[in-house]
Amino acid sequence: KLYNEVIELKGNIRVFCRCRPLNQDEITKGSTSVVDFESSQENELKITASDSSKKQFKFDHIFRPEDNQEAVFSQTLPLVVSVLDGFNVCIFAYGQTGTGKTFTMEGNAENRGVNYRTLEELFKVSKERSEIMRYEVSVSMLEVYNEKIRDLLVEDKDPEQQPPKKLEIKQSAEGTQEVPGLAEVAVSKTDEVWELLKNGSRVRSVGSTNANELSSRSHCLLRVTVRGENLVNGHKTRSHLWLVDLAGSERVGKIEVEGERLKESQFINKSLSALGDVISALASKTSHIPYRNSKLTHILQSSLGGDCKTLMFVQISPSSADLGETICSLNFASRVR
Ligand code: ADP
Ligand code: MG
Repeated sequence: KLYNEVIELKGNIRVFCRCRPLNQDEITKGSTSVVDFESSQENELKITASDSSKKQFKFDHIFRPEDNQEAVFSQTLPLVVSVLDGFNVCIFAYGQTGTGKTFTMEGNAENRGVNYRTLEELFKVSKERSEIMRYEVSVSMLEVYNEKIRDLLVEDKDPEQQPPKKLEIKQSAEGTQEVPGLAEVAVSKTDEVWELLKNGSRVRSVGSTNANELSSRSHCLLRVTVRGENLVNGHKTRSHLWLVDLAGSERVGKIEVEGERLKESQFINKSLSALGDVISALASKTSHIPYRNSKLTHILQSSLGGDCKTLMFVQISPSSADLGETICSLNFASRVR
């Protein structure tokens, strides 16, 4: 049965699915892959449910376990470059914890992800255009945790002495959503970018006993601001590219969750469904877009909708042990298409 028939590019919203390889631990435990690419078209995959029935899903593009970071970026490139033409762009990584959201966006030193490759490409293209255009590129990095915004490019010096700066979303006179006080660092070379991004991730995990744990329960947003000036006619633009590593989409068991953890998971649920609501409202061209239901969608308001471009990576695990969550993620992604 076909769950999401739609494939023609619906306006400016695109969904890519990326499936990571089975890991050693899963192989040892005897987990098998429930994702079937072989019998599928290039942009389709089939999931074998526990009753052996097959569910089929279609996306704008599907990345298989063997596809590397370069293959992923080659499909993402046109979108990120459009920020130099004055478009606002949002790219999200959605999925259960452990499916490769951070791998896709951040990557590691040997396998650099979309964030780094994007900046590298922006520098390259802006150089190529330097006779007609002058560009200034800067980055900000923030975290949304329990509906609170935290600057990741400013280290919270002494939490005892100085409470971290409280950041709020304000609407500017031009009607755009801004975060006054958020650090913005000008960048012009790739070597300074990698250090900066690494530092931001480091700040993200400070104060938590388990870095991986906390990062799976907060949204990490990298904002690239591009200011362009046309040297021929003097026309100036400012546009934003948001690269978002979302909190883990997994539902936590009712019994184990209480206190702080319960609050966290409620905030995550609320913001991920708010994001789903906004994108599906945009895809169905509804007039009311519910941006204000979460900090995440509110902050991105000026970059979601209109002629802005949106890409969502739905990250999945191939493992039979994750079948339930995989189906949930694929259904979520089908809803926003
Ligand atoms: P998430 O951010 O969704 O919780 P991670 O990005 O931390 O997941 O990925 C979990 C683990 O799987 C990491 O060790 C990561 O390096 C590895 N991994 C994820 N995707 C891939 C991939 N496509 N190829 C190889 N390893 C991957
Ligand atoms: Mg992660």
